[in-house]
Amino acid sequence: AAMFDAKRGHGRYTRTAPTTSGVQMALEEDLRDALRHNRLRLHYQPIVTRDQSIVLAEALVRWPHRELGPLAPDVILPVAEKGGLLPELDRWVLRTALAEATTWESYDGHPVGVTVNVSGLRPEAPDFADEISAAISDTGIAPDRVVVEVVETSLVDLPSKPCKTMRDLASTGVRFAMDDFGTGYSSLARLKDLPTQIVKLDQRFVSGMGSDPADLGIVRAVVELARAMRRTCIAEGVENTTQRRLLEGLGVDACQGFLFSRPLPAPEFRALLSTPGPALR
Ligand code: C2E
Ligand code: MG
Ligand code: MG
Ligand code: MG
Repeated sequence: AAMFDAKRGHGRYTRTAPTTSGVQMALEEDLRDALRHNRLRLHYQPIVTRDQSIVLAEALVRWPHRELGPLAPDVILPVAEKGGLLPELDRWVLRTALAEATTWESYDGHPVGVTVNVSGLRPEAPDFADEISAAISDTGIAPDRVVVEVVETSLVDLPSKPCKTMRDLASTGVRFAMDDFGTGYSSLARLKDLPTQIVKLDQRFVSGMGSDPADLGIVRAVVELARAMRRTCIAEGVENTTQRRLLEGLGVDACQGFLFSRPLPAPEFRALLSTPGPALR
């Protein structure tokens, strides 16, 4: 029933995965079709520094499904995975996000970058670098405005060749972020070797740090580690000012979360960017 409630209001997304294989297969076909006909959408969530500048926005995929209403990544990604559509989804997201970001302009003229999640396109895939480079040259975006987010868990056992691929790309200006940091088991040496200039502290630690001393300890350790390795640390899932103050006190460079803004449709994000002054308080 939850699947059909999704149209009720702005920002309500269906997060219940369909169960029967018939529904699953129909959705795979729909997704293939939606990709082909450009019917997916990206929402953008601002990433905000301590001085309240929006320096980046994360592209998050949404699917306004004709019958089921708006669908969130929790539904889209498993469908894409089962249908073998993840690389195609990544490609669509990369191209769309980079193209949209070329039109972004902040009210005071500071550059705003875009960060994109990839999960089908893995650093060890032979076309990883080519896909990213092609999206950059086809859209004409400056490479230093592009961040590619890879989840920590997919970087754990990465052999040295894809590390080199990532380093080569990084030398063109593209940045990499290790997403959901703290949830995988990567060694510290791994973080040191990889050209992941940004670490994104997973939201579970942010939401737990007020009540669980272990979570607070993890947050502290990740921030320290990021500083020692000269990485930028972004905290995810910041929902209130108590969390924000604590994180900034610990030395987090930037925050992302509902406290500042929900992920916004492209036109609303552009409007937010062009609003003078610190729009996010
Ligand atoms: P993520 O990359 O860690 O993205 C952050 C998720 O946290 C987003 O959920 C975002 O809406 C949500 N979020 C942001 N601020 C807050 C907050 O203050 N509180 C809480 N509770 N949640 C917050 P979303 O959009 O549902 O995406 C879920 C996951 O799906 C993402 O986690 C990412 O791993 C994946 N994903 C999203 N879009 C894409 C995409 O275009 N391609 C790929 N491959 N994966 C995607
Ligand atoms: Mg992400
Ligand atoms: Mg994340
Ligand atoms: Mg997360």
